[in-house]
Amino acid sequence: MSNKYGKVKNYINGSLLETVTNRWSNVESPLTGEVIAEVALSSREDLDKAVEAAKSAFESWSKKPIKDRVQVIFNYRNLLQENIKELSELVQEENGKTYDEAKAEVEKSIELCEFAVSLPQLTQGEILEVSRGVECRTEYAPLGVVASIVPFNFPSMVPNWTIPNAIALGNCMILKTSELVPLSAMKIAELLKKAGLPDGVLNIVHGEKEIVEAICDHPDIQAVSFVGSTKVAKIVYQRSTSNLKRCLALGGAKNHLLVLPDANPEMTAANVVASMAGCAGQRCMAASAMVAVGQSDHIIAQMVEEAKNIIPGKNLGSVISKAAKERIEGYITQAEKDGAKILLDGRNCKVEGKENGYYVGPTIIDFVTPEMSVAKEEIFGPVVSIMRSRTLDEAIKIENANPYGNAASVFTQSGGLARHVMENASAGMIGVNIGVPVPREPFSFGGWNESRFGVGDITGKSSIEFWTKLKKMTTKWNPDAGINWMS
Ligand code: NAD
Repeated sequence: MSNKYGKVKNYINGSLLETVTNRWSNVESPLTGEVIAEVALSSREDLDKAVEAAKSAFESWSKKPIKDRVQVIFNYRNLLQENIKELSELVQEENGKTYDEAKAEVEKSIELCEFAVSLPQLTQGEILEVSRGVECRTEYAPLGVVASIVPFNFPSMVPNWTIPNAIALGNCMILKTSELVPLSAMKIAELLKKAGLPDGVLNIVHGEKEIVEAICDHPDIQAVSFVGSTKVAKIVYQRSTSNLKRCLALGGAKNHLLVLPDANPEMTAANVVASMAGCAGQRCMAASAMVAVGQSDHIIAQMVEEAKNIIPGKNLGSVISKAAKERIEGYITQAEKDGAKILLDGRNCKVEGKENGYYVGPTIIDFVTPEMSVAKEEIFGPVVSIMRSRTLDEAIKIENANPYGNAASVFTQSGGLARHVMENASAGMIGVNIGVPVPREPFSFGGWNESRFGVGDITGKSSIEFWTKLKKMTTKWNPDAGINWMS
């Protein structure tokens, strides 16, 4: 056991703290299966300390003008850029994705900071003389102590979905990392401190279910954002809101790509395969189901050829854990038993020199029917399940019937048919000839249906409403103004 990074402690009020219970969980690198760290498992008492630190930091942090607060984010953004290699290597090591994918994630974190730096321009508030001599104006006020609970699949990007915007808007935050990938978050805290963030504005508590439940229950936490599976999103949403907190909980996905026979075969095959296999299929925006409309065999054949160029350990990373590998392979086996045809099989994949890593090769399953588990459930691996439909409306019906609603894409050369899908797909983020239709800043990120619980999106302009409350002020200072019924 190399345990390269040692014990990963909580980060509270700018210091590393032991937990009250002194319980730890191993962190493995999925690339090799080796233990690289031990992460603290926190309890309610640990959360109390973090909330106290955040509450006391809030007094001065929230009083700073936003233009001063975003200077810290500006410095932090530059530190991300300066440290991009080290940060990307860390993401790769703890998550298992390729270096290029890890780097793209850090680059996205930089873009998220650039948006946060623009928040003074977006939060000016409004002013109007609403009646003779009477002015109404609005201001965005921070909420206080807020929490962000994050998943394993983007150790840098997802924390940066919430931290820069929430703190730029004047809040103090408790970040609950994924116990599988706690290292990048610690680096984020270190860089923010270096960038000038006062102690207590960002605090990190590690752990599992117990600390998540404590966050949902804590009376001094005003808002909870969550990103993870739908099962846990529902628990967190229900528990936080029943404790009268604001909550935005993003859940899992089963993204459908609808492929029409007129689609450009090379471009479509390349995009579908990149979407299903990128980050080893562990993206909530990954193509998981494809509906081939009409005669699309030539595109499917092209996809198989394209996917053969995806080599585990080279341009395909590992999945997160042994359990994930077993789960994904179990889905493929089940599909085979159910009568689907495995066109490309990623099971039992071994990477030379990394025999204990958790790799699954790219997998394409054809002739899947909508009632099979590979058609209905989130697999979260480099697997695409192809269903066949005779018409576009039949394909849209299949897409609409799935309970999730993160993303959907259509591949076609027809503007009219693309528009028909844009209007009728039941997902928050729609792509046309795009495999991973993530809206880039300043547009906001968020799905529909069982992919998101709560109102609004987690990034972009939409997040301003989530992290603030609007204060409405009415003033009359002009003694000469007449009095009318509205004043
Ligand atoms: P997860 O739901 O298992 O874990 C997310 C967080 O919840 C972690 O911090 C974890 O410690 C905590 N948690 C786990 N079980 C819990 C429980 N029973 N009670 C309370 N807290 C619990 O998700 P994951 O495996 O880390 O991430 C993968 C999932 O996240 C996929 O479903 C993926 O689609 C989803 N995801 C969604 C988005 C989105 O934007 N919609 C983005 C990224 C990931």
